[in-house]
Amino acid sequence: MKKFFITANWKLNGNIKMISSFFERLKLYSSVFLEKNIVIIAPPTIYLERVYKNIKNMNIFLGAQNVDINLQGAFTGETSALMLQDIGVKYVIIGHSERRLLHHETNDLISKKFHLIKELNLIPILCIGETERDKKNGQTQKIIKAQLNCIFKKLGKSVFNNTIIAYEPIWAIGTGLSADPKDVQLIHQFIKNYIKKHDKINTNDILVQYGGSINHTNVKKFIEQPDINGLLIGNSSLSLQEFLKIIKIAHDII
Ligand code: PEP
Repeated sequence: MKKFFITANWKLNGNIKMISSFFERLKLYSSVFLEKNIVIIAPPTIYLERVYKNIKNMNIFLGAQNVDINLQGAFTGETSALMLQDIGVKYVIIGHSERRLLHHETNDLISKKFHLIKELNLIPILCIGETERDKKNGQTQKIIKAQLNCIFKKLGKSVFNNTIIAYEPIWAIGTGLSADPKDVQLIHQFIKNYIKKHDKINTNDILVQYGGSINHTNVKKFIEQPDINGLLIGNSSLSLQEFLKIIKIAHDII
């Protein structure tokens, strides 16, 4: 059965009350909606364990929004991949544009994180994508190649198995301006072909999510594209009602 990967990126949002009410209500729907979808919830680090307790008996996985490049030691304020693994995290988002832009994370740093995550048998969700300016200048493919090349350079070939790539055009994140699903399909095809050229992986095993202003009114056309294997969702994952609508639409189409 085809699986569709839906990741909720809560960013710096949520609190104890919101988490209780979110999962209390989600439990009522889980058996109906979650069988074909792989649902991953990535709350802020401080709430990871709380979310883990809530999803324990549900078919939902825990994701982290970031990780440090060190496993332990004198690195005040950081969280390591070992710690994430220790508390039940399975997926780790890296390279999100908010970290690239606001925290000056480079392709090189992101490739170090990718390496560590793989070493510990966690699953990276590697975010890539172009700015509005890159798009206007026809640079989308060039930017994506550079973001992928860095991973190949650090890790060699055969690295994209058991990995999720999230194509997130930066101009579409949190703006209400989602990309055109047909354009996204072409970019996902490009990403898969590019990876296939360098990696021995089977094309069907390359998983690419789309992220950028997804909601229940625009999601259908994205899910219908053959090379969109899932979604990375910010704002719309904070409202359980909206998130469930998206999951249900995916469930009905897949
Ligand atoms: C994101 O943060 O990765 C994202 C896609 O956000 P939004 O859905 O709010 O555009």
